[in-house]
Amino acid sequence: MAGKTEAKPKPKSQSKPKAKPRAKAKPKVKQFEYKAEMKQLLHLIVHSLYTHPEVFLRELISNSSDALNKIRFRMLTDTEVVDPDADLKVKIELDSKEQTFSIEDSGIGMSHDDLINKIGTVASSGTLDFLKQVQEHGGAVDGNLIGQFGVGFYSVFMVTDQVTVETRHADKDSKGYRWSSDGQGKFTIEEIEREARGTKITFKLKDDHKDFSEDYRVKSVIQKYSNFVDFPIFVDKEEVNRVSALWHRNKDDVKEEELTEFYKFVSNDFSGPQGHLHLSIEGAVNFKALAFIPETAPPMMFKDQLEKSLQLYSNKVFIQDDCIELLPEYLRFVRGVVDTEDLPLNVSREVTQTSPAMAKIKSILTKRLLSFLEEWAKNEPEKYRKFYQNFGPVFKTGVNSDFGNKDRLVELLRFETTKSEKDELRSLQDYVAGMQDGQDDIYYLSGEHRDALERNPNLEYFKKNEIEVLLLTEPVDVFVVPGLGQYQEKSLKSIDKADLDLKDEKDGDEDAMGKDLSDSLIKVFKETLGDKVEDVIESKRLVDSAATLVVGKDGMDKQMEKMMKAMNKDYAGSKKILEINMSHPLVKNLGKRLIADASDPLLRNSVLQMYEGALLIEGDLTTQTEFIQRMTELMVEATK
Ligand code: ADP
Repeated sequence: MAGKTEAKPKPKSQSKPKAKPRAKAKPKVKQFEYKAEMKQLLHLIVHSLYTHPEVFLRELISNSSDALNKIRFRMLTDTEVVDPDADLKVKIELDSKEQTFSIEDSGIGMSHDDLINKIGTVASSGTLDFLKQVQEHGGAVDGNLIGQFGVGFYSVFMVTDQVTVETRHADKDSKGYRWSSDGQGKFTIEEIEREARGTKITFKLKDDHKDFSEDYRVKSVIQKYSNFVDFPIFVDKEEVNRVSALWHRNKDDVKEEELTEFYKFVSNDFSGPQGHLHLSIEGAVNFKALAFIPETAPPMMFKDQLEKSLQLYSNKVFIQDDCIELLPEYLRFVRGVVDTEDLPLNVSREVTQTSPAMAKIKSILTKRLLSFLEEWAKNEPEKYRKFYQNFGPVFKTGVNSDFGNKDRLVELLRFETTKSEKDELRSLQDYVAGMQDGQDDIYYLSGEHRDALERNPNLEYFKKNEIEVLLLTEPVDVFVVPGLGQYQEKSLKSIDKADLDLKDEKDGDEDAMGKDLSDSLIKVFKETLGDKVEDVIESKRLVDSAATLVVGKDGMDKQMEKMMKAMNKDYAGSKKILEINMSHPLVKNLGKRLIADASDPLLRNSVLQMYEGALLIEGDLTTQTEFIQRMTELMVEATK
């Protein structure tokens, strides 16, 4: 494990326990006393650390894995060691009758000095301060945190009263030693006959924790914490960690089936992934990662997105599930692992939240994932489309939250538009490439379904002039798209808004209304509707419909307003502007009626009916009864 290399500061001179050899000759058992601070620490471990007793197993396995890593490294250049042919493995033996537990590795082993300096001392004085503080505040210390203090070994005293360590260092001329302690104030060391290189730790479990002498219990903990330790772990002769650390292997040596199995293992997904990214990064920060994009979106995507994430490993030793610090929220559908040597093993949540190494990993990972998706978008559009349909609703929120990558994210946005077939998606780049001469803006329309949007009267002008309009049907769109502001210096504009700069297309309409008449007619509309509307204006966008409602300059997007209303029943929403199509036969007829008899009741009824008809299309009509009554009156009139 990474945190346990020579680099770790250990104020040895301060913490060295006082050696108090007893009688020099036989027996050769020497007794040592822990320094005062170590005693305190042990006291705290035994009395305060009880929330995760199974942690001792992780600590012992990771120490073994660390020792195995060290010997493996040494043997790359030096095979003159004890037991050069020994298998590199961890062996756990349990006896549920006797309530005993033992773990043995063929790692680097410990010398006499190691037993005193590495096992018998407190790694840092800060550790004690912290533990004391927690105890003073009356809280139990989370056993999970123990490894971070560099005293992981001592977590065994959560489950036992007496530990024996038998060990022999890999150096050719080394001797075997037995270290023993009750975790109270003293420990003993004696020389023993030991052939094998490596370390064996043995103890009897306290009654409360005798379950750790049961196979099933030990195996399940190993599966949770140590499945990817790079050395085989045997529990009573059965190898229990079959899944090897794929991400440590060369990309080309990893088979597709292995990846699929691994993905299923880490994600609990039944089907395989849609794609994966295998990274090995060296530089300012070092890490390896296997990141998968699932084939389907989870049923609770928005909820999962907040809680789920990648697993964090430190040099093949499991640290944390769902380490949300590794990915921005908009990428949290990605599953897999990150393994870094740049964090101390067993870092706490607090450390992962504030560590600069984590921030660097997050930044690199994000950029690599974006490159990966860009590659799909460019060369495998069908894959990208599928990805986007699955995860688009989450993914696109990145443009609002990740300002550093906004430009790249904007290029990755996709839309249905009036020019795309159903389910086909277009990018903003596609849109701009297809813009009309003289078109300055990018237009969009938001609503609940594509079908409803296509029938929206506000689209008529755009259809007639073959101007593309983005059709936004997802709730997040109303946050994402207005937030873009501009793309390639073109503003994004909702065609629901009144202030669109549309070319006047009312060409060649011979019997169009004169200006005076249309002004007078608009006055009638305004008088009739009163404060139901913000304004009444002549429309440039309507072709087939007689009237439509649009949003004023400072008004809220209609779709957004709908969401507000859904959340708050008392929310009234803003008044709309009614646009009138002066070329529509109905409006022209109303003009004639106005000239003939300004007080004609048919005139006012028609105005109200047009207004309420527009509300009906919006889904905002609340006066259905009046609407139907008036319609019936008008039909009676028409059928006379
Ligand atoms: P940490 O692992 O954080 O350093 P520990 O208390 O778990 O703290 O272990 C202290 C030291 O004891 C290790 O750094 C290592 O040098 C030594 N050690 C522990 N277990 C073993 C082992 N199985 N083989 C060799 N050395 C070990």
